[in-house]
Amino acid sequence: MKIWANSGDSHYMEPKDLYDALPPELAARMPRSVKSADGTTETIYVDGKSFERPLPRIGIVKGKNGRTLSEALRAPGDRDFEVRRSDLDHEGIWAEVIYPSVGLWNSMITDPVLAREAVKVINDWCASVQQESIRHVMPAQISPLDVGDGVAEVQRAAGLGLKAVGLPSGTPPGIPDFNRPYWEPLWDAMDETGMVIAVHTGNTGEDPVHFHGPGAGPMNYVWASYPGMTMAGFMVASGVLDRHPNLKLLISEAGASWVPFLGDRLNEAYRQHSEFVKDRLSRLPKEILFDQVYASFQHDESAIPALTAMGYRNVVWGSDYPHLEGTFGHTQKTLHELFDDQPDDVRYRITQGSFLDLFPHVGSPPREGLE
Ligand code: MN
Repeated sequence: MKIWANSGDSHYMEPKDLYDALPPELAARMPRSVKSADGTTETIYVDGKSFERPLPRIGIVKGKNGRTLSEALRAPGDRDFEVRRSDLDHEGIWAEVIYPSVGLWNSMITDPVLAREAVKVINDWCASVQQESIRHVMPAQISPLDVGDGVAEVQRAAGLGLKAVGLPSGTPPGIPDFNRPYWEPLWDAMDETGMVIAVHTGNTGEDPVHFHGPGAGPMNYVWASYPGMTMAGFMVASGVLDRHPNLKLLISEAGASWVPFLGDRLNEAYRQHSEFVKDRLSRLPKEILFDQVYASFQHDESAIPALTAMGYRNVVWGSDYPHLEGTFGHTQKTLHELFDDQPDDVRYRITQGSFLDLFPHVGSPPREGLE
């Protein structure tokens, strides 16, 4: 039996001509990746800043046919949405939230003019992709540098038909944090337009290589999850989500079992240390978190018990297509391993139902059940 799933965590590869509509001096400052001569590292350049990060060995070592393993494992539809849809049909994925790839580093931009103008070009392209198929949910980007620019672009993007806004998990230095009243007009605009807030792990605006030395590899991946959790906590504790009960926040690629943990911690602070809690909420923090925050995972064993054992219903599965750490090539195997021992209602909730809370317009896959 084929299990059909929606993905709360997928990516597009930016088309090479994406920034052609920008003036050249702006386009030149958009994120780009340059591989080192020996292929072991890449340097990302963004708006006058750069950082270097290691590349996986499977992108370096060549097999007998002269191709690297990463080239051999590459998803055929990673740059072509028509081919992508046939990849998705084969893998059993119906609709996807499709984040940028190198464009996740757009949050490192510190020039307000560049941030404001670039997102218009990106969002126009996102809207054109979404018009090809309702299966492609393309989060709009906005400038996190100026609330007026952000509000204007939310409204423009909603007019283009986009259904979500991708935000970094924090604002750049010198810009008010998202829990500050400065951003209230942005939340109002998203609430009024029905936009889902979509945050991809690692989209922090900072150099992702946080740790060095032994153990740094896995711990940098783990560390990338923390800012998204912090943002979710602040959106609850500051009252933003309480004041906007229809606003929904999706945190992608950070797993799901942290949500019950965070809810317990917030509740304990709110009740047991209430004399220190100035910001009053109409509901307990965990209730707001469980109601309005969604979390996507790919392989995590503890994500399903977050629902079945800890009562957190907004667990969303994600494929991370077409990234190599995702499930492309083994999506059905992964889904069967995760769900074969689960009741149908649990499988349905995580593979489709939670996603449909966020994006009901995508509907159901045409062929549920047997292939
Ligand atoms: Mn991802």
